[in-house]
Amino acid sequence: MKKTRIVRVADLKIGGNNPVIIQSMIKTPLKKVGFVLNTISKLKKEGCEIIRVAYKEEKEAKFVKSILKESLLPVEVDIHFASNLAIDAIKFGADAVRINPGNVRKQELKNLIDVAKAYSVPIRVGVNSGSIPAKYKNKSNAVSGMVCLMKEYLEYFQKQNFKDIMLSLKSNSVRDTYYANMKVASLFNYPIHLGVTATGLGTTSIIKSSVGIGALLLQGIGDTIRVSYTGSPLEEVRTAKMILSAVNLRKFAPEIISCPGCSRLGIDVIKLAREAQSAINKMSISKPLKIAIMGCEVNGPGEAEDADIGIAGGKNCAILFKKGKIVKKVSDANIISVLMKEVKDMAEER
Ligand code: SF4
Repeated sequence: MKKTRIVRVADLKIGGNNPVIIQSMIKTPLKKVGFVLNTISKLKKEGCEIIRVAYKEEKEAKFVKSILKESLLPVEVDIHFASNLAIDAIKFGADAVRINPGNVRKQELKNLIDVAKAYSVPIRVGVNSGSIPAKYKNKSNAVSGMVCLMKEYLEYFQKQNFKDIMLSLKSNSVRDTYYANMKVASLFNYPIHLGVTATGLGTTSIIKSSVGIGALLLQGIGDTIRVSYTGSPLEEVRTAKMILSAVNLRKFAPEIISCPGCSRLGIDVIKLAREAQSAINKMSISKPLKIAIMGCEVNGPGEAEDADIGIAGGKNCAILFKKGKIVKKVSDANIISVLMKEVKDMAEER
């Protein structure tokens, strides 16, 4: 896939060969400024890199200003219907604005583009399947409507010679999100923000987001991501990190490679994997170690050898491997303490 242009959001470079950036969104009214800022601080600690806030009406201006002034993360201000709010947001200090071509008329964009140019602030053109104008609504081909709407607006931006653009095309359908993004990525080289929208609760949301975002990332498409989760934004960030880690684009913590278990199990893999994960979480290790916990000698030694550190189960014991070499045999009762000591030592190695 061709490289995208690079767009700056505050100090972050988005696009090109830069790391895929994690975003989330504030889900409480902006008037609770203290709560919003506290949430931003927690999200930053969790690994969020850009926060989006929805600016709905002019009377929220003072809250937007305070959030922009105090935020610990770059802020993208999200506007629907009223392009004048996007202009105000830029003047207040927004690091980026998002407009929805489904509800901001093209003719209203001229002033916004002039202000964005003057302040060097990028604009995300964010198409959403929930707000496609009637002329592009096509029940039998939703992808085509999303892509045509995007093309129409991008042509307008191009006519105005404005290139500090990011794109997004989100649908609640994983397939439509995938094909709309594939198509647009083949037509334009602006950075793309990925997400599947309105994915629902819990595991359903995690799976839809992981499949949609992950499939596109594996095609080399996507410069920023957001998991749209009906729940805590902290969960959005945790899932986003796991997606990036699963496709090997970024690593944030040790990864446990544990076998699913079968009747060959020589050790209690499920218990050991849980204990190891819990110990790693408590130690707050950020080094991306690969830790194998394998139940027997069939695939165990192979996976354990391939990992930074690993165990392969035997009868009431395990073989400890380190960097591909057998270190020692460990009795059943000592497996977790020996493994975690090795992990700690390896995490502290420079
Ligand atoms: S590693 Fe061994 S115990 Fe684990 S699933 Fe494979 S064959 Fe079964």
